[in-house]
Amino acid sequence: MGIYPEIIEKLIEKLEKLPGIGPKSAERIVYYLIGEKDENVISLGQTIISLKNQVKLCKRCFNFAEKEYCNICLDNKRENIICVVEEVKDLISIEKTNFKGRYHVLWGRISLLDNVKPEQLKIKQLIERVKNEKVEEIIIATNPTVEGENTATYISEILKNTGIKISKLAIGVPIGSELEYIDSQTLKKAIEGRKEL
Ligand code: ZN
Repeated sequence: MGIYPEIIEKLIEKLEKLPGIGPKSAERIVYYLIGEKDENVISLGQTIISLKNQVKLCKRCFNFAEKEYCNICLDNKRENIICVVEEVKDLISIEKTNFKGRYHVLWGRISLLDNVKPEQLKIKQLIERVKNEKVEEIIIATNPTVEGENTATYISEILKNTGIKISKLAIGVPIGSELEYIDSQTLKKAIEGRKEL
């Protein structure tokens, strides 16, 4: 028998699995929830359930969306420059630099170590977009890690013959780091100073 009633043990166990939450924080969250008003806890639970029901992936760029297309794809004022990123969190980092183009989320990076092959990523869909949309430029903004670099090379090789300008984030993005942790100003400079491949 644990120290706590079973339901508490169970919730702590589930919360512990969330990113950035260890056993201590999980316990603290449970205490907090027990002390909260019923309606607040119910509302939190319902929001979590709705999250799974309501969040989809945009049919075009694979960003999170509530409907068929995401808010960025629905924005007519965006330039026809596609910034290719590994994850939605990278899109968010680039959005904070005031980038006014569009995106394509790969949902990962090619990785021998994790056995991630190009066909598991949204690369085929990117090629389709390049064929069907009036794309002026592709900026490859994968992370400056070995796997991110390999993914960038793979994509630029595939798109080489399309005649579209392909560029990559400029230096200033530290090698081995992740876009998520780079400040907006540095990232903005890296986009502005992008190099054509
Ligand atoms: Zn979209």
